[in-house]
Amino acid sequence: QGDSADFDYEVSSVCPFCGVGCQLSLKVKDNKVKYVDGIDGPANENRLCVKGRFGYDYIHHPHRLTKPLIRREDAPPKGLNVDPANPLTHFREATWEEAMDFAADGLRGRGREVAGFGSAKCTNEEAYLFQKLIRQGFGHNNVDHCTRLCHASSVAALIENVGSGAVTATFNEIENADVAIIIGANPVENHPVAATYFKQFTKRGGKLIVMDPRGVGLRKYASHMLQFRPGADVSMLNAIMHVIVEEELYDRQYIEAYTENWEAEKEHLKDFSPEKMAPICGIEPDVLRDVARTFAGARAAMIFWGMGVSQHIHGTDNSRCLISLALMAGQVGRPGTGLHPLRGQNNVQGASDAGLIPMFLPDYQSVKDDGVRSAFTEVWESGDFSSEPGLTVTEIVDDIHAGNTKAMYILGENPAMSDPDVDHARDAFAKLDHLVVQDLFITETANYADVILPASAFAEKSGTVTNTNRQVQMGRPALAPPGEAREDWQITVDLANRLGLEWDYKSPADVFAEMTINMPSLANITWERLERENAVTYPSLSPEDPGQSIVFGDGFPREGGRARFTPASVIPPDEVPDADYPMILTTGRQLEHWHTGSMTRRSRVLDAVEPEANCSLHPSTLRKMGVEPGGMVRLVTRRGSITLMARADRAVAPDMVFVPFAFVEAAANVLTNPAVDPYGKIPEFKFAAVRVEAAESQ
Ligand code: SF4
Repeated sequence: QGDSADFDYEVSSVCPFCGVGCQLSLKVKDNKVKYVDGIDGPANENRLCVKGRFGYDYIHHPHRLTKPLIRREDAPPKGLNVDPANPLTHFREATWEEAMDFAADGLRGRGREVAGFGSAKCTNEEAYLFQKLIRQGFGHNNVDHCTRLCHASSVAALIENVGSGAVTATFNEIENADVAIIIGANPVENHPVAATYFKQFTKRGGKLIVMDPRGVGLRKYASHMLQFRPGADVSMLNAIMHVIVEEELYDRQYIEAYTENWEAEKEHLKDFSPEKMAPICGIEPDVLRDVARTFAGARAAMIFWGMGVSQHIHGTDNSRCLISLALMAGQVGRPGTGLHPLRGQNNVQGASDAGLIPMFLPDYQSVKDDGVRSAFTEVWESGDFSSEPGLTVTEIVDDIHAGNTKAMYILGENPAMSDPDVDHARDAFAKLDHLVVQDLFITETANYADVILPASAFAEKSGTVTNTNRQVQMGRPALAPPGEAREDWQITVDLANRLGLEWDYKSPADVFAEMTINMPSLANITWERLERENAVTYPSLSPEDPGQSIVFGDGFPREGGRARFTPASVIPPDEVPDADYPMILTTGRQLEHWHTGSMTRRSRVLDAVEPEANCSLHPSTLRKMGVEPGGMVRLVTRRGSITLMARADRAVAPDMVFVPFAFVEAAANVLTNPAVDPYGKIPEFKFAAVRVEAAESQ
């Protein structure tokens, strides 16, 4: 905390890390952000976590790119071999004119050979422009971003069964609930400000049912802690729903009025008695029955979930079960009820809404629909583009190996760290004959670039972002980008014009205005309104309506207005433990580090707290291996191996190892399995067979 004497000026903006979307005030002195305070945004009410409060100084890090770079002709072969502190061994500085010409020349006229990865770190306007560039400029839909790696399966199940890919209620609605389920999520580390609302809920007497193979931080606040067997979500959830059917605890009136396919669901659940499922999911039948009665008997109940649910080859089935559970208990559409996948990145909701996905145009309008495409091309004043859904993140990597995708434009995404079986992805990027990377630093992906365009951080640009609550919020610049770095929307527009697209946007506000034409979700939301009010929740029913925090009180946006029960069967993980790889690997984030670490590992406070690659194992597992806590272990899977420091953690089951994926020196994704869910095409980051060995200290 400080007073106004501590800074020259302050600017309100939005935290760049997680999907909670905390509003904050950047205090600037001598052209640098000196400190950050939380302000009264709808999702955070002045609160911030450690990342929002202390994780801003990466924007001033000496590794920031300040000039465009072009790969030197005498550079070594492409690989993970560029020193981010000294990129001039592999690249030479260029003017913007030369770099943009070079970037455009390598992409122009190549149609299907080009693919694009945008990012959930893009603002809504940047994401919209990026998908438009690929569709209008190259005529196809091979454009995706990291939603494919986090909640793609949740979105697939939500669109299929309730007709919309966003949450049905804000997380703050928990204050009106008396029961809440949190499954496959660790909000204390991953959505820390949301976690404070969950804790308050229990202090008021709310019953919190936590379900996770790891004993996550909220277990201390839980009325029920179900530490189920990894991958056994469907067995456990079907058993709970079996009890609700068997004991007729379901909401008959709600089911009749608002749903379809109930009889099929009921019939399907007959096979999932708690007694039969207990040995599979590892939860006692009595506990499953008690949870069923508690949830179905609630006056108002919510379900929250995270990537423990979505990052499986049965991720869509997991979400289908959660949707069915809420529907049968009539727990959607009223205060204190709802379905809420806790979105990961600060703008993964908005980037998906803006069409940065291969099967949908903005607002999840299918690329297959001729009327939809023509509505967009009319606004874009351009010809038609492909009606074939494009390739996803992992499919594009395979397509490079197959020799079809030969050039890419990657904005703000770091797939050379975040993709599963990452050596396979890195080998693919090395094969590209033209890679344009737009970013703040020499990321691992930028190691493979032919041209690097220096971009701007959140505190250096204007743009809107949409959080997990469907709240569209205004991000504002507090500083100019360093050196010659430019705002991202300007770079994309410049590239589009060099590709012959004749775009004439003067500001992000122009882009937002175009977005509102074909995005009904943005009805009644304008740039001016956001500048004035900072945040508006969609849908907003009038220019005065702050937006609907709860939706679907009176039917669903599906044919006939009904939500659907889609029964889910048990599908085992793709790779089960065996004699060679006897343990289970699971990956995720930890409180201090964000995703691939490019920002938080350059943040002084955060990096000081968590400076070293680490994994967590149960103390008994470490004892058996003769490894002291803090000693080194080697993790080996069919994809590769890494060596890193081991922590003792009782929250991890004895046959599991948990690895955060932020550390390039021991990259978790060297190990992960690229097998994907058939609907959401999301990789199985939460389950792979692994061998753990003691390693020499380094
Ligand atoms: Fe930022 Fe999320 Fe922390 Fe809020 S909870 S300060 S949005 S990282």
